[in-house]
Amino acid sequence: MRPELSSYRHLAAGKVRELYEIDGETLLLVATDRISAYDHVLGTPIPDKGRVLTAMSAYFFDALDVPNHLAGPLDDDRIPAEVLGRAMVVRRLDMVQAECVARGYLTGSGMVEYRESGSVCGVELPEGLVEASRLPEPIFTPATKAAVGDHDENISFEQLSGIVGDELAGRLRTATLEVYARAAEMAADRGLLLADTKFEFGLSEGELILADEVLTPDSSRYWPADRYEAGRVQPSFDKQYVRDWLTGPDSGWDRSSDSPPPPLPPEVVEATRARYVEAYERISGLRFSEWLGGES
Ligand code: ATP
Ligand code: MG
Repeated sequence: MRPELSSYRHLAAGKVRELYEIDGETLLLVATDRISAYDHVLGTPIPDKGRVLTAMSAYFFDALDVPNHLAGPLDDDRIPAEVLGRAMVVRRLDMVQAECVARGYLTGSGMVEYRESGSVCGVELPEGLVEASRLPEPIFTPATKAAVGDHDENISFEQLSGIVGDELAGRLRTATLEVYARAAEMAADRGLLLADTKFEFGLSEGELILADEVLTPDSSRYWPADRYEAGRVQPSFDKQYVRDWLTGPDSGWDRSSDSPPPPLPPEVVEATRARYVEAYERISGLRFSEWLGGES
């Protein structure tokens, strides 16, 4: 008999994930179907999104040769039936209070900063780069971890050192760039460019451990390599589709107002779900219908 979710103490709610305590050393990390955009958690869930994010993180934890926070199999007996397929039993870590971002291409907040200063997080870049330009080499661009409803802010390596100390900052940079390089190679084998990605690390007895989610469409930008063209916004497998709908004429939403975004119509929900599933299948080469917790 699997335990009830309500038998675990609820510790914290993030934008997308919920954390429960299994015991002193172990947590249950549950991915919900919530989707966030423009720092708002939307009122409309995307069915299966929590399972896609979990399947994808599981795929990469297995494929990458670095210590990670998994502390049991994906069908661990401690996982309640109601969250099977979207939950992980993980080691409770002392989380590093910074987001570790690697960028191989210039877009998003990196592009905004480059336009203003010619650099990103204090890393000087050559002149003349355009939207989606490939960088001369991948760069480490850390950010603060914002509370729900707040905005993560890009910081320099020196600022990161101020928060976590020089030695740990150096280890975070090395680990982030190494995992990015490996994941970018894996993506390339599937015809995708890994434009950028965000990792969260934790510490256990001084050892750096990859935690939270990894290399999912929520934490990463994947672009189809065969359609890549610098100078324009790339088609992607992330939630750009939802962002475009929210800021387009059909939603009636004014991003600069204080009002929350409107509910997503069924066709936007379905198209978004399909993109998440496609991302998983394309990147892992596996079928989502075979993932845990699907209808049988
Ligand atoms: P986002 O990822 O969109 O920035 P968020 O970080 O607010 O959102 P979620 O990812 O929804 O939050 O929630 C997961 C939370 O659990 C984060 O605060 C993360 O740091 C924490 N966490 C993940 N893995 C572990 C772990 N092994 N031990 C302790 N805390 C963890
Ligand atoms: Mg997170």
